[in-house]
Amino acid sequence: MFKRIFVEKEMRDHPRVLQFLSSFPNIPTQEIEEIDKIFNRVKKPYLQKRDNLQAFLGRKRGSLVKPAPDAYGLSGSPHYYFIHSYNCLYECQYCYLQGYFDSPDLVFFLNHEEIGEKIKEVCDSHPDQEEVWFHAGEFSDSLALSHLTGELPYYFSLFQTLPKARLELRTKSANIKELKALSPQKNITVSFSLSTAAQVKAFDLKTPPLKTRLKAMRELQNLGHPIGIHIDPVIYEDDFEKKFAELFQEMKTQLDLSAVHYVSLGVVRFTKDVYHQVQKNYPDSPLHGADWVKSFDQKVRYSRPLRNWMLGKIKALGLAAGFNEKQIYLCMEEMEN
Ligand code: SF4
Repeated sequence: MFKRIFVEKEMRDHPRVLQFLSSFPNIPTQEIEEIDKIFNRVKKPYLQKRDNLQAFLGRKRGSLVKPAPDAYGLSGSPHYYFIHSYNCLYECQYCYLQGYFDSPDLVFFLNHEEIGEKIKEVCDSHPDQEEVWFHAGEFSDSLALSHLTGELPYYFSLFQTLPKARLELRTKSANIKELKALSPQKNITVSFSLSTAAQVKAFDLKTPPLKTRLKAMRELQNLGHPIGIHIDPVIYEDDFEKKFAELFQEMKTQLDLSAVHYVSLGVVRFTKDVYHQVQKNYPDSPLHGADWVKSFDQKVRYSRPLRNWMLGKIKALGLAAGFNEKQIYLCMEEMEN
């Protein structure tokens, strides 16, 4: 998986570093002072993630927990995200990470106890709020490599002590082995990004197929873990309504929809830089056939009428399938009447 693993000297004897390294006994390792002095310093083409990937293990410094953008999660509560990893093994063609870092190398920050202290502090700074949300997976996938990084038991213990804190683990992975070993907690939601089977195949390269994701979701739900759904990014395709109706039908067959914590809807969007990267990295992608416009937040999106139409259709299909109004919210999107 990796050509080389860089380890910060300060963390070389940390149990999580040792656990990670034990999975790669034959991969060369190199000690470094600080990740920030090497990672992202020299531009490395994004697609080298396919055959020339390196890993960095170390300690997150600076801002450990940050406020999430507006309309990021369920409204009415403060939302934050925390950073314990940069980059991802998967290769979704629309992924914003391809324009965010100058390197696809994977970075793992393993000082979770420090991140946890900051989470406690932020939670305490909202004495009047009933819920304070923390999201993992803003710069990576929360589950894909959780068997190597080993942080989930720590966050499950931490959130047990923070009843009003809510944790969201965002993923496209079906790697639920670690989660299955943990007792479900009602303040920890595992949320899966889903799109139609054809779109998963066309755009979410190297990710598990839709059926595999749904199976993992069903297993978690059967064990009592709260699950959420992100239908995001929504991409236009021929037979749009039919394909999304099939997606909801699959969900209905596999899941108890009434127990799904939330369903967020968001239409595909790019910053200008990310869009240029998508053109460069995936020149044959069907994404390039669309009529893009610059939208209210300067991002590249479909036209407003098309976005509203797609969101309206998906919401109606979701309600018809059995979700209720309260479960569905729009992520990073404004809808006009
Ligand atoms: S799973 Fe998420 S982080 Fe990973 S490549 Fe896809 S969009 Fe990017």
